[in-house]
Amino acid sequence: MAAVPGPQTLAAFEAAKGFMPVREGLALYAAAAEAAALGLPLLEVGSYCGRSTLLLADAARAAGTVAVTVDHHRGSEEQQPGWEYHDPEVVDPEVGLMDTLPAFRRTLHAAGLEEHVIAVVGRSPQVARVWAGQVGLVFVDGGHTDEHATGDYEGWAPKVAEGGLLVIHDVFPDPADGGQAPYRIHQRALASGAFTEVSATDSLRVLRRTGPGS
Ligand code: SAH
Ligand code: MG
Repeated sequence: MAAVPGPQTLAAFEAAKGFMPVREGLALYAAAAEAAALGLPLLEVGSYCGRSTLLLADAARAAGTVAVTVDHHRGSEEQQPGWEYHDPEVVDPEVGLMDTLPAFRRTLHAAGLEEHVIAVVGRSPQVARVWAGQVGLVFVDGGHTDEHATGDYEGWAPKVAEGGLLVIHDVFPDPADGGQAPYRIHQRALASGAFTEVSATDSLRVLRRTGPGS
């Protein structure tokens, strides 16, 4: 049976702001629990307010490893004022820009998971360039333009260890269902020969590294 998060994590997950539906969250958790057994960090791109981070953190805690999550906390294009996914509660009134870091910290605190997470505030490709080690799992849920999705893939996919997992959110093969950038990196990962798909739950795709490269 697939691993499930503890009740405190699940309650905090359901209460957190964010863009991770429960069904996909449970699939992400199961992937994280499996990958955590490698004993390497679990890496997320796109922390936002910590909703999905909680799941990686719970799995990391259970296995004695750590979740690392990367975000500049200024929001993606579609989350800016005037756009579809904007939330005025996450604007810093002093600087007039989005800042999801305070909400992120509250989410982790409420779940009792702060000590199992390393939050990196920065741009994904820049962080990837200074990140030397391998990771057990990469969860790509950052910017949804081709530029950002490609940067996330190129920066982080090479760091997935042999047997580790690459998880991509918002994969929509049909353009009527959503933007295509995550789908394009999903196709690229499969075409590289380095990754093999192991599960698909709605728009959440889990791939395993079964060969070298990316
Ligand atoms: N995983 C979250 C949702 C992430 S939303 C959840 O479960 O709710 C996407 C996030 O990616 C936003 O917070 C945005 O600030 C971040 N982001 C977009 N492009 C980025 C980049 N190039 N580097 C770092 N973070 C980025
Ligand atoms: Mg997403």
